[in-house]
Amino acid sequence: MPLSLTRADLQRTQNFINARWSDAADGRRLPVSDPASDAVFAEVPDSGAADARAAVDAAQAALPAWRATPAKQRAQLLKRWHALILAHQEDLGRLISREQGKPLAEGRGEVLYAASYVEWFAEEATRAYGDVIPEPVRGRKMLVVKEPVGVVAAITPWNFPAAMIARKIAPALAAGCTVVAKPAEDTPLTSLALTRLAEEAGLPAGVLNMVVASRERAAEVVDVWLADGRVRKITFTGSTPVGKHLARESAGTLKKLSLELGGNAPFIVFDDADIDAAVEGLMAAKFRNGGQTCVCPNRVFVQRGVHDLFVEKLALRVAALVVGPASAPGSQIGPMINGRAVDKIERHVADAVSRGASIVVGGRRLRSDSCDGPNYYAPTVLTGADASMACSLEETFGPVVPITRFDSEAEVIAAANDTPFGLAAYFYSRDIARVWRVSDALETGIVGINEGALAAEAAPFGGIKESGYGREGSRYGLDDYMQTKYLCQGLNLGAAA
Ligand code: ADP
Repeated sequence: MPLSLTRADLQRTQNFINARWSDAADGRRLPVSDPASDAVFAEVPDSGAADARAAVDAAQAALPAWRATPAKQRAQLLKRWHALILAHQEDLGRLISREQGKPLAEGRGEVLYAASYVEWFAEEATRAYGDVIPEPVRGRKMLVVKEPVGVVAAITPWNFPAAMIARKIAPALAAGCTVVAKPAEDTPLTSLALTRLAEEAGLPAGVLNMVVASRERAAEVVDVWLADGRVRKITFTGSTPVGKHLARESAGTLKKLSLELGGNAPFIVFDDADIDAAVEGLMAAKFRNGGQTCVCPNRVFVQRGVHDLFVEKLALRVAALVVGPASAPGSQIGPMINGRAVDKIERHVADAVSRGASIVVGGRRLRSDSCDGPNYYAPTVLTGADASMACSLEETFGPVVPITRFDSEAEVIAAANDTPFGLAAYFYSRDIARVWRVSDALETGIVGINEGALAAEAAPFGGIKESGYGREGSRYGLDDYMQTKYLCQGLNLGAAA
């Protein structure tokens, strides 16, 4: 098959629990398919409650020794993991592209991106400083120390099979937590390969446990973790409805939560913008991973004075995008993750057109010779979009740019914020006063100012409003896996004093 691996044993097809590769207790299997053609090319366990419990037992048993391991030693293990990920960049990139469909160049890029989080948190592990507080009364010493929260359950989506795992597991391990994880059902192989490399790096038994399940059984696995008081934190990236479910159900044992949920990112181009830079920024932000990222611009607002020029320049760029299989050297847009995803894009475009939008480029499924399956959608530009359309209300998660014309700054700020979500926003302007005003007014956790590529391991990634809470990456990212303990020592030690 295309995208074959030099190390075939990196394609693991079992769970990893307590340092053993194992099948689901009841032997059920889950097929893994090529997103382009839906052809099945591997099978993994379809785990259930018994496997989920075994994973927590292992993580809990491993916790005392792992949290007592000096931070420097934990850091060294993470650095070995990092080195192995880099050494296997090509194989991991191929696995990502094979199961997720992104062009191989992006698959390789994602490996580096994932590795950057492992390296970052290896370094941060040794810097989990506490505080010494100047005592407000005589006769005391007051200190603050940071401790690992305990067993962490990580639940990840399919769009960045390596980066999502790395962003959650690296800080957890750095903090001294042990982990049970369930990768997305569409993309389990990359997580299992990363787990294999963590095993090779020398991670002690039980510190990282990986349990794979189908969409139908995801809740059975995760419900066990939600109900178990030994699991002290849930870290989740995915849809807002599932995030809310996790928040509700973890209330029973009051777990700490990090939720990175849907976005509905606005991308605003003001009359005073550098139009070429704005087009470039939109291309980078929108078409990464075929538009299947939670920080993708979902609603594009362009001010009246530059609207037509912007649309003209953008349309030329979008029409030139090469759509094709992940393995084809020139591919820029791969297949969507599955048929459901393409159906949603089709529904959004049809709805927009029925409400008055015009198709400038694309607007259809692709079934050409260069596409090896039914799950391709043409990169699309729509004009005349408005707030009533499904593509403005929900994330399209595909290569569609709906453009709305606007007149005033106040109007566009109100429109940009008129959503329950608040993950990322982008705007282009060369007016310095406007830059600060608009940055202030946008209700999101991340703002791109004259920049379309925002993600970096050194930056705090996360949202506000119904896009969730918690931050991944940066020094803030480690804190999410730690709790604060206050130590107060009395100095009234008797006569000797
Ligand atoms: P997406 O729409 O991107 O697939 P989801 O929120 O549905 O986002 O899925 C993200 C992750 O959440 C996946 O690992 C999926 O298996 C898991 N998941 C889906 N439904 C549930 C559920 N009811 N309980 C726990 N996890 C779930």
